Amino acid sequence: MITFKTTYTCPACGSRLVFLEDDDNVWLGCDRCATYVRLSKREARRYWNYTAHRVLWRDMLEDLYGSFASAVVRG
Ligand SMILES: [Zn+2]
Repeated sequence: MITFKTTYTCPACGSRLVFLEDDDNVWLGCDRCATYVRLSKREARRYWNYTAHRVLWRDMLEDLYGSFASAVVRG
């Protein structure tokens, strides 16, 4: 399990968002609000750059953050 704090902050409480990776999914969420969004590793494959042979983390985090922000706003 990989976990680290991102530079993104929660629109609801201002806490730093946490990124998690387990066997099947990646997650972005706020520990304080207990709100998380999930992306399956199958879906995450579209962020793999075949030329650079690396994951486009910034793009993936941007999209996860977009989902998270709308999830938090909806409550
Ligand atoms: Zn929060």
